[in-house]
Amino acid sequence: MSDLHGAVTRGEIVALFQPQIDVHTRQIVAVEALARWNHPELGSVPPDIFIPIAEEHDLINEIGDFMIDEGCRLAAEWQALGRSIDVAVNVSAAQLLDLEFLDRVQANLQRHSLSPECIIVEVTESLPIADVPEVNERLIELRALGLGISVDDFGTGHSSLDRLLVLPATELKIDQSLIRGLHTAPAVLRDAVRTAHDFGLRVVAEGVETEEHFERCIELGCDRAQGFLFSRPTTEAEIAQLLTVS
Ligand code: C2E
Ligand code: MG
Ligand code: MG
Ligand code: MG
Repeated sequence: MSDLHGAVTRGEIVALFQPQIDVHTRQIVAVEALARWNHPELGSVPPDIFIPIAEEHDLINEIGDFMIDEGCRLAAEWQALGRSIDVAVNVSAAQLLDLEFLDRVQANLQRHSLSPECIIVEVTESLPIADVPEVNERLIELRALGLGISVDDFGTGHSSLDRLLVLPATELKIDQSLIRGLHTAPAVLRDAVRTAHDFGLRVVAEGVETEEHFERCIELGCDRAQGFLFSRPTTEAEIAQLLTVS
């Protein structure tokens, strides 16, 4: 996998975007940027494969910066068109531990004259984020800059909601396994959504594939929903198309 070196420079890393809709209006209100590696021989390599390799081989900052840049560029285009659409970008703990990360994010926002509120940093619950002081500090700084902070994959890690609420989060993303009803009793999940709302967090449901899943989101009281029911992760051009018809 040494081919991952220089993949950004060679233009092999691309960002796809997946819409999130407002549960009440069904309008697109945000997109999540999702990385793909277009390998010359292997074709499209999914992030679950290459992100861990990038983390191991010290390539995550290069890839992460590219994704943040893509997210900011797209958000700035929409901002210029007067459309308020949030862009969420996944960020690894290794990126948050980099002391210059914050400066680069700030420079990026400035380059695009972007209001920071429309950029959401997603950190996954499966990492021990609440236990690493440096990570928490960086999240506090990002929040202070005005960015949104989303706790991704809620329900997959070992953290209770109480532990996560110490983070400076603005959003909770419920993992797709919970939306499919694979784990956790609905009552427990409903309580989690209520508690998140009590703390002023927005709640997003992931992996909504069917109308039945969508019904569950509504019952749970989720604010936004994301999943194949609305759109798969897709190109910027297709997102623009979806936005003109919505
Ligand atoms: P994630 O952040 O939880 O992203 C959601 C994943 O669920 C995406 O997989 C998306 O394609 C998939 N998904 C969305 N809706 C549905 C649905 O209705 N059904 C099903 N079965 N799946 C759905 P993807 O794109 O393969 O990304 C996997 C993970 O890789 C992401 O999970 C995220 O943790 C990580 N990742 C992706 N891009 C980046 C990146 O730029 N940086 C970092 N650090 N991690 C990334
Ligand atoms: Mg995510
Ligand atoms: Mg997730
Ligand atoms: Mg994930």
